[in-house]
Amino acid sequence: MKLTVCQAGEAVLRRKARALSRDEILGSYIQDLIESMRDTMRDTPGVGLAAPQIGLPLQLVVIEDLPQYMQTIAAEELAERKRRPVAFHVVINATLTIERAETAEFFEGCLSLAGFTAIVPRATHVRVECLNEKAEPIAIAAEGWYARILQHEIDHLQGTLYIDRMNPRSFSTQDNYVRHWKDKPVSQFWQQVPPQPE
Ligand code: ZN
Repeated sequence: MKLTVCQAGEAVLRRKARALSRDEILGSYIQDLIESMRDTMRDTPGVGLAAPQIGLPLQLVVIEDLPQYMQTIAAEELAERKRRPVAFHVVINATLTIERAETAEFFEGCLSLAGFTAIVPRATHVRVECLNEKAEPIAIAAEGWYARILQHEIDHLQGTLYIDRMNPRSFSTQDNYVRHWKDKPVSQFWQQVPPQPE
């Protein structure tokens, strides 16, 4: 079942989500919800979806970065972003730790800010401790684009959107991004757009 994705301005996107109990995770409500969130993420399409985005303040995230999403992106861009396919998985009650001070800047979008994108600095290496859909504890070590997805989705559980972390001067419509900046290094954007007001 495809769910409606809340857009910026809905209070649920700005509230802290609550943790799920083991019994809740194993119950049919959450199991069905995981399936609906997966279908919604694939239909939209997106690489991650957090429960607050479908109106539920729960610490539940689904992630999947399919090989076919990479077909329209230049090989150099994929390499620069360290973007590789990520199999479908579920992240519940997550704690994220930044493993290195190193950050990377790339354009990033959000299903709850449909039609827009901006440059967001994110840590390149993170570790996530969480539960999976069977309520089993798992630890994820991630780098590159996958680390970015985890940071973005886990931010949703704290009521944080990428616009809180973006470089505001890079905020762009998706159409203009595709027209001018797609497949170009971020450094080229900053050569054309002064990083500070002139
Ligand atoms: Zn988002």
